Amino acid sequence: MNNIRSTIPDFPLTIRGIFEHGERIHAASEVATYAGEHIRRASYAQVGERVRRLAAGLGKLGIGPGDRVGTFAWNNQEHLEAYFAVPSMGAVLHCINIRLFPEQLIYIINHAADRIVIVDSSLVPLLAKFAGQLTTVERYIVIGEGGGLPRETLRYEDVLASAEPVRVWPEVAESAAAAMCYTSGTTGNPKGVVYSHRSTWLHAAAASMANSIGLTEDDKILPIVPMFHANAWGLPYSGWMCGADFLMPDRYMQAERIGRMIAAERPTVSGAVPTIWNEVLRYVDANGIDVSSLRCVVCGGAAVPRSMQEGFLNRHGVRVIQGWGMTETSPLAAVARPPRGTPKDQEIDWLNKSGRVVVGVELRLMSGEQELPWDGESVGEIEVRGPWVTSSYYLDDAPEKFHDRWLRTGDVGTVDAKGFIQITDRAKDVIKSGGEWISSMELENHLIAHPDVLEAVVIGVPDERWDERPLACVVMKPGAAATLEQLRDFLAARVARWWLPERWAFIAEVPKTSVGKLDKKVLRARYAKGEIGEVKVEKMG
Ligand code: ADP
Repeated sequence: MNNIRSTIPDFPLTIRGIFEHGERIHAASEVATYAGEHIRRASYAQVGERVRRLAAGLGKLGIGPGDRVGTFAWNNQEHLEAYFAVPSMGAVLHCINIRLFPEQLIYIINHAADRIVIVDSSLVPLLAKFAGQLTTVERYIVIGEGGGLPRETLRYEDVLASAEPVRVWPEVAESAAAAMCYTSGTTGNPKGVVYSHRSTWLHAAAASMANSIGLTEDDKILPIVPMFHANAWGLPYSGWMCGADFLMPDRYMQAERIGRMIAAERPTVSGAVPTIWNEVLRYVDANGIDVSSLRCVVCGGAAVPRSMQEGFLNRHGVRVIQGWGMTETSPLAAVARPPRGTPKDQEIDWLNKSGRVVVGVELRLMSGEQELPWDGESVGEIEVRGPWVTSSYYLDDAPEKFHDRWLRTGDVGTVDAKGFIQITDRAKDVIKSGGEWISSMELENHLIAHPDVLEAVVIGVPDERWDERPLACVVMKPGAAATLEQLRDFLAARVARWWLPERWAFIAEVPKTSVGKLDKKVLRARYAKGEIGEVKVEKMG
């Protein structure tokens, strides 16, 4: 009696399974790619046939199970084809972050040991600069035309034409490696996370749930988040799984292009980091662009300013839903949908939380060895584990990040009884003033709500008396007149007195990381070199 077993055998959850489902069940759904002046369109059925050809072509070039195939590409149809072809044939997709520094790119491509790199023609000149130092790449496949790379270079369309479409896929275990991403390496070298078929499948399903992004065949997804940034947050897989149309922005990521794309093509769902949405909001506000087709804008990767969410909601009727996660968590771990019964006028309070933990992800709040209560007040470091949370890096030890399968996220915040997370800072960005913590993120969010402020970034700088104090750096909107004293007064009405920065600086622009987040490391270095002209603003106005 004790030895009862499930009558359902373990059936592998594979990317091939997602691919064939979409290809057959949603054959008429569309993948559109913005090409500057016009839009290229293909049905899932057509994309599917090309996926099969790409897999066969890669096979002819000697790619087999476990081999890494890199992509150095924008968000477009061909990149999506690689998303399915490479894992379905048992190889491993490595989406390379084109915005890393050359030394980091050389490091990650050699570290992942990519054998082939598929590259967009417009990115060939960038790749060519360091391709000579890539030790494992045997060939390049160029989408479009392009040469000048040190090894054999083939045209993507020729590779597709050279092979008969794969009809029978190899058996692939669900635990096999399917794709890999490197973190952007804010300290030291980037670290690789290797996703399995199973982790990708489950993450895609969890992201599609109505409690998360909530995707169906009626959706049209505009993934602005690059396909090399944590696999575009899984949108290619979850969208295909649900049969949604795709609108791929290719290299046209500027606010103006995005605004025009939204107005013309009317996507229902989109995802990008806050800096992008900020620019898009400014553009659509200034130009009267209709973005009302969007029913769900997913925003995360950094704290989402409430003022931006209010702008979209109040002026355009668009809900910006915040998500929280990291490359190590595939990335989606929490999504901030307002809980049941929330009155309309309080929705924004919930949308502005970092996220509500998604089923599958287990979370705890820690202070040293002690677990803290989920009371919405206790502040600790968030740890997570789950079926799509990594518990190590690829060929790289980081014992300080992992223990007993828990991932130490380095994010500090609170969790409430309903599982809503509020990140207050990254552990390394928290400002430690006189033994107390000041949230740089909260100061930034208040500052950016000032009508004259375009961007704001707050870092902790050394202080003799308090160890550290905040330095507020602001970029003003063109023609804005607010003084630093006025900005300080604006903050004074919103935060505790001892949080108020005494040190201020106007800066021309905020440095950004390779995925468009505020780059505090660069700002700290500039401050240390005395390159930031700080002003003392001590008296309240
Ligand atoms: P990188 O470390 O290069 O920025 P990731 O994109 O993996 O790469 O970043 C993950 C980090 O982004 C998280 O650990 C967290 O600090 C931050 N983050 C993600 N989502 C949010 C959010 N909604 N609010 C605040 N911070 C966030």
